[in-house]
Amino acid sequence: MPFKPNMNPKKNPMPSQDPKVRAHNFHEVTTGYTADTAMDEALRCLNCKNHPCVSGCPVKIHIPDFIEKVKEGEFEEAYKIISKSSSLPAVCGRVCPQETQCESKCVRGIKGEPVGIGRLERFVADWHNEHNTENIPEVPSNGHRVAVVGSGPSGLTCAGDLAKKGYKVTVFEALHTAGGVLVYGIPEFRLPKKIVQKEVDTLKAIGVDIETNMVVGKTVTVDELFEMGYEAVFIGSGAGLPRFMGIPGESLKGVYSANEFLTRSNLMKAYLDDSDTPIMKAKRVAVIGGGNVAMDAARTALRLGAEHVYIVYRRSMEELPARKEEVEHAEEEGIEFKLLCNPKKILGYENPDDRRDPKNGTVIGMECVEMELGEPDASGRRRPIEKAGSEFTLDVDCVVISIGTSPNPLIKSTTKGLDVNGRGGIIVEEETGHTSRDSVYAGGDAVTGAATVILAMGAGKIAAEAIDKELSGKNS
Ligand code: FAD
Ligand code: SF4
Ligand code: SF4
Repeated sequence: MPFKPNMNPKKNPMPSQDPKVRAHNFHEVTTGYTADTAMDEALRCLNCKNHPCVSGCPVKIHIPDFIEKVKEGEFEEAYKIISKSSSLPAVCGRVCPQETQCESKCVRGIKGEPVGIGRLERFVADWHNEHNTENIPEVPSNGHRVAVVGSGPSGLTCAGDLAKKGYKVTVFEALHTAGGVLVYGIPEFRLPKKIVQKEVDTLKAIGVDIETNMVVGKTVTVDELFEMGYEAVFIGSGAGLPRFMGIPGESLKGVYSANEFLTRSNLMKAYLDDSDTPIMKAKRVAVIGGGNVAMDAARTALRLGAEHVYIVYRRSMEELPARKEEVEHAEEEGIEFKLLCNPKKILGYENPDDRRDPKNGTVIGMECVEMELGEPDASGRRRPIEKAGSEFTLDVDCVVISIGTSPNPLIKSTTKGLDVNGRGGIIVEEETGHTSRDSVYAGGDAVTGAATVILAMGAGKIAAEAIDKELSGKNS
């Protein structure tokens, strides 16, 4: 019998910790739907015949089908539908920019809020992780060996899809923990590490070997991987090289790239009450930039004990590239937005009478200038222009630079015949992820530059299919 739709124009709100409380802890901000709320939200879906929402999902999850199962309370069935297209639903349900992807196409968004597709996906994945006790079936080996470089979402997806087809896959990861940005970039309060660990454990259970502390290009090269008997290599090494602004004062003590700041916090477990993190616990922090990474760094600084945290961004709120939900959460927690504001110089303490004064070279402020918006530039966004005579000094003792990252040139410089573009991204064939080098594939941020989890995951899937096609062809 068809269900009576829930015509409430608003989504069921997402339960979350009180902003005043959560601003001082690293526990997950949002606590997730209950089964009753999920079923009520599912009833907002009209099960549209031409399902426009699916066209907004980069991996084409069968959204109305999984939501129908949620309406029926068949959560495991809903999970099975999602997992046909996505291997990281608990992650994507939390961090996908749904408002510009699946939910942006939902018809319920025309006269109200779209169906909370991401929230439902998260609920279903969490329900599965909590209740599922099925053992993962063993897959007979097909005798082929594949190496995967990097254990971010692209590498994990590629490794998982190949292992499920019987390939013997080894993932080589530079850091001591697997998971890529999901572990060292996105903070615990947005994506609990145990969720990523579960995905990594599942891969290990189906036979994927994960070798950590292996920097491909230093410990072993791509060419050597072939000599070791791997028949194909997938490069999913991300875009972890931070960009700087080139302004005076960037080498002062107390200036970090967002990558370094977040990695120190995440991997050195600053989120645990009893951790002894090597991050300087500053009182007044300026984070330069307006993306998701900047919001994460600012909210981390707050949780590490800062009294004032500023987002310094040279355009207006309208152009801020971070997810709307993250900006709202940051505002609720007390992050202060210095918009239309550009840094010119980071100021350092100097004691000319005592060169050994430990405070020498530490940050004591940041000179900024106000901006106004002119005509649109090549990106279509209005160009920020300095307002003459509007210089001022922001009183800060720590500066975090979050203006973007690029792919690290190490693998390119140590791999013969691997072509990259002007921004350092590995050049691949779109349909297969194949690079300019035989049997070498690539995907995720290493190809596109900093992008999203779901796009990286999609690229890992495409490459796994192409590798399977290439290597299974060798049998015939
Ligand atoms: P990565 O996740 O970067 O993984 C690459 C892995 O390769 C790393 O573990 C790295 O250590 C390893 N590696 C690098 N070089 C080598 C080498 N030479 N040898 C061996 N291993 C190597 N996306 C969203 O969709 N939503 C969000 O909310 C969001 N928030 C973000 C917040 C932060 C702080 C950051 C930094 C990114 C965020 N992103 C978000 C972007 C998203 O995380 C990335 O697009 C995605 O992780 C890219 O996946 P990947 O597999 O290509 O690379
Ligand atoms: Fe939406 Fe992301 Fe899930 Fe696709 S993977 S349905 S875009 S939340
Ligand atoms: Fe449901 Fe919205 Fe998709 Fe229609 S567009 S099927 S209402 S989620």
